[in-house]
Amino acid sequence: MKLENYIRDIQGFPKEGILFKDITPLLNDAKATQECLEILVKSLNGHKINKVVGAESRGFLFGILLAQELNAGFVPVRKPNKLPYETISASYDLEYGTDILEIHKDAIQKGDKVLIHDDVLATGGTAKAVCELVEKLGGEIVQLNFLMELTFLNGREKLNGYKIFAALTY
Ligand code: AMP
Repeated sequence: MKLENYIRDIQGFPKEGILFKDITPLLNDAKATQECLEILVKSLNGHKINKVVGAESRGFLFGILLAQELNAGFVPVRKPNKLPYETISASYDLEYGTDILEIHKDAIQKGDKVLIHDDVLATGGTAKAVCELVEKLGGEIVQLNFLMELTFLNGREKLNGYKIFAALTY
């Protein structure tokens, strides 16, 4: 299986100048999804994970598959005012202005071994904010993994010191 054959490039979505990496063809194929999941699991080299944290919203998709495969709990990180229980929040920079992400304050216990997952690593702002939330709650970040990394945006520079894996790089 060639994973890249299941990623569809959409020019100009959601706005001009962005080449959107569409994972719906991958999700549409059970075998490709399973193989992609196996690649992500293998990248952990058997490290124990208690919690998988997925970033809204496409991080939820493989996030929950990973959690099941690793026998770990799944934790959603969401945009403001989406989570119903008590939350803590972290802000991160966008091209223009800032945005906020939230996590339930009881979602992670001190010492939990955490895997952070999202579909795409671009500038790294989202992932960095998720790291902040996990660490505020006392979680230990084992790895961040992504389906894709857009290396030309240098997201890794914002994530110094963390172990990062991407199934595909562009
Ligand atoms: P960033 O915070 O810049 O690393 O952006 C990461 C978030 O934006 C992820 O949640 C991705 O889902 C989304 N994203 C950024 N760039 C793209 C892209 N070219 N195609 C699809 N999703 C993207």
